Amino acid sequence: MTKKSKVILIYTGGTIGMMEDAKSGHLIPFDFKQLQKQIPELSRLDVELLYIPFEHPMDSSNMQPAIWIKLAKLIEKNYSKADGFVILHGSDTMSFTASALSFLLDNLNKPVILTGSQLPIGTIRTDGKENLITAIEIAAAKENNKSVVTEVCIYFESQLYRGNRTHKFNSEHFKAFQSANYPILAKAGVSIHYKHNALKKANNKSLKVHTSLDANIAILKLFPGITQNVVEAILNAKGIKAIILETFGSGNASTEKWFIDAINTAIKKGIIILNVTQCNAGAVQHGKYATSAGLAKAGVIAGADITTEAAVAKLMFVLANTSNKKEIEKLLKSDLRGEITV
Ligand code: ASP
Repeated sequence: MTKKSKVILIYTGGTIGMMEDAKSGHLIPFDFKQLQKQIPELSRLDVELLYIPFEHPMDSSNMQPAIWIKLAKLIEKNYSKADGFVILHGSDTMSFTASALSFLLDNLNKPVILTGSQLPIGTIRTDGKENLITAIEIAAAKENNKSVVTEVCIYFESQLYRGNRTHKFNSEHFKAFQSANYPILAKAGVSIHYKHNALKKANNKSLKVHTSLDANIAILKLFPGITQNVVEAILNAKGIKAIILETFGSGNASTEKWFIDAINTAIKKGIIILNVTQCNAGAVQHGKYATSAGLAKAGVIAGADITTEAAVAKLMFVLANTSNKKEIEKLLKSDLRGEITV
């Protein structure tokens, strides 16, 4: 007889575990015991489940880097006890958390699957049950005694995604996430079909958990008409070390002199500027158009096909690990956890 897989279910909150507050009518999180009651199927799974509920379940809009570190430490502490982890999480910032965990958990060789739902578990048409049950199955899945998935993923509405490639693009449909620049890792129908070519390969190294992030970053999203005051306010924000410049198309921006001057001055002051496209799919390609040549010349780093969510997490991770500008640039241009195509 094969041994049952052990999966640890970490409950952070999110819509899946929410109900309407009788007084205000707002959706607020309820505790894990209530959630368990709504899913009696959990006890019928052929998996040994262990639970770690957050004492104060949260709406993921309140997510903080300190909680990403807390989650990474929880996984480290319980790593040898489990075959896989499922994290129940609100969908709003799930892509940020999945990205952050991918950087914090170095040499991960077990599945960490984030999931949640668009409708609370107590509602009749909830998408939460299928999401949770299949996420547990994926976290428990083994082939030749080895975990099939060995990375941080999001499972939502029948699809398994590489977490740091995702973006929440829909707040209405059950299919809330997309991974425009990287293939889906598995599709769940009658059975779960894994795309072995897209899944990260396991290695023999031991897990190394990083426990610091530096949040001194900002996002400067360009739009036609953005004023010099706004650009300079962001570039000169107190304590800022790095900026994600969200540009048009394949990394293009205004060629107005004041704008290029402001970028040049910021870089000379030592601020890192990472160019990330506002498009959902495709990549930044410096020099394709004349409108990105000035950025490249000033020393802006091309973010390739990284998502804004992964760029936020990667910058926080890289800045916490080194202050050497050359090293930061090298790391930003490298594929650390499958987050960019190089
Ligand atoms: N506001 C909720 C959250 O992110 C939305 C969700 O769970 O889908 O916690």
